[in-house]
Amino acid sequence: MIGYCMKCRSEQMIANSKTVTMKNGRPATEGQCPDCGTRMYRLGKK
Ligand SMILES: [Zn+2]
Repeated sequence: MIGYCMKCRSEQMIANSKTVTMKNGRPATEGQCPDCGTRMYRLGKK
């Protein structure tokens, strides 16, 4: 699962990724950047 890290300003693998539901009821994937540890989100399921 690849996501965009705002801090690294590049695409990174999402570590510890899990599917979550956002406030509007849409699925999203949440995880951490393995490089800097910043929390990352990506819309949609895996
Ligand atoms: Zn990062």
